[in-house]
Amino acid sequence: MITLSDGHLSLPESFLYGSLDRSDVDIILGNADMVAGGLEPPCNVTLLRTDDAVVLFDAGSGSGFMPTAGKLPDALSAAGVAPEDITHVVFTHAHPDHLWGVLDDFDEPIFANAQHLMGGDELRYWTDPDTVNTIAPERQSFAAGATRRIDLIGDRLETFGDGEQILPGVQAVITPGHTPGHMSFELSEGDARVFLIGDAIGNAHVALARPELHAPADQDPEIGAETRVALLNRLAEEQTQAVGFHLPGGGIGRFARDKDRFAWNAG
Ligand SMILES: [Zn+2]
Repeated sequence: MITLSDGHLSLPESFLYGSLDRSDVDIILGNADMVAGGLEPPCNVTLLRTDDAVVLFDAGSGSGFMPTAGKLPDALSAAGVAPEDITHVVFTHAHPDHLWGVLDDFDEPIFANAQHLMGGDELRYWTDPDTVNTIAPERQSFAAGATRRIDLIGDRLETFGDGEQILPGVQAVITPGHTPGHMSFELSEGDARVFLIGDAIGNAHVALARPELHAPADQDPEIGAETRVALLNRLAEEQTQAVGFHLPGGGIGRFARDKDRFAWNAG
């Protein structure tokens, strides 16, 4: 298992702070990934190679979301993997930075030989015609973009449920809140375990210093906070190696409890 960089996002500060005071923010952020009034969270796509599968967890942003993201094709090529070598593309959720990279500039599926897999609750939410009307206005383009891509992937896309073993050594674990059907994945090989958390723990500063705070990035902030606190407690307790899509250091590391907050130790 390795991670490949899809580049990074460029977000305004307000995207992460929500109800926090400016002074709290300064204390929490310290030396975090701040640049001139914004944040540049990395995007880490996981590549898993087994005896008979080459699996991507999420597909990155593609060329249509942000100019700083959509670098996955270059990273794959540098790793010696051709898009047609990918056998499975497994989605944590259907936000643009995770889904939109499935199509090329001609709207053709990039991973032409791959089976695409998405959690059933997540697929139902983004294909529900009501979603574009009920989602927050700033996310309406996410809904239209997800629906269009899901449509164009067509019958390459299949669903799975919570707890399902979707591939040998890959078990789905529902971690809702960031999106209604957000999925994490427990990878196991022998005794070794790796937990892919997607965006259920979305950054290594506010989410670790104040995990119980409602995060503006989460579509259901209350459920998102419950999920985050439970995951952090479990992963820190078990010292499980984790991979976070937007966490620093290539996204691979371990959480540790640090009094009433948590720390991220990359590596
Ligand atoms: Zn994301």
